[in-house]
Amino acid sequence: MGTIEDEIIECGGEVFGEEEMETLMHCVQCGKCTGGCPSGRITALRTRKLFRMAQMDMREEIFNAPELWFCTTCYTCYERCPKGVKCTDIIRVIRNLAAKEGHMSVPHRKIGVYALKTGHGVPITPEQMKIRESLGLDPQPPTTQKYKEQLEQFQTIFRETGFDALIDFDWDTMSLRETETKTETDTESESESKSKSEEGEKK
Ligand code: SF4
Ligand code: SF4
Repeated sequence: MGTIEDEIIECGGEVFGEEEMETLMHCVQCGKCTGGCPSGRITALRTRKLFRMAQMDMREEIFNAPELWFCTTCYTCYERCPKGVKCTDIIRVIRNLAAKEGHMSVPHRKIGVYALKTGHGVPITPEQMKIRESLGLDPQPPTTQKYKEQLEQFQTIFRETGFDALIDFDWDTMSLRETETKTETDTESESESKSKSEEGEKK
């Protein structure tokens, strides 16, 4: 196994190109990304810290960092970095690597459950269906949520690609396994992150 930088370049290079991933090493820790990060204002996410951890090959630390999952992929840092570091795409690749090793956050896994059950990360709710009906529309838009045979095809893709195993999805109960334990851990981490944020760690 190479360094985490090697893995970022190898894994992310397939999608974004190796050159783009190599910009990680151009980070000079100026902090502009962190200063403009909307998520970092209310969470412990410190974008430049993630990149420093990656540069220093702090594999376990970065894969276990709850804040890795607090990025909303808004691309503000990507636009503002004076060194051209492809911040958001690098974070997405680090997440993919972390997920492959079983470190995906519970909220992200739960979005996967919605997708597996309905074909949508954000399925339509009964309230929204009522609103559609009151407007004279079909309560269900023409999506996988309405057409079950399409949903089955979608679920086949998830099975074939192993996404169900990645989020530890149980087809019998149509939910996650071990959610409670992991949720508690996540909740603790989030509280810890919040208090760190309140301590004014932002630099
Ligand atoms: S703005 Fe760019 S160079 Fe500055 S800390 Fe962030 S990633 Fe590094
Ligand atoms: S893309 Fe993520 S890390 Fe960058 S500014 Fe937006 S929330 Fe912050």
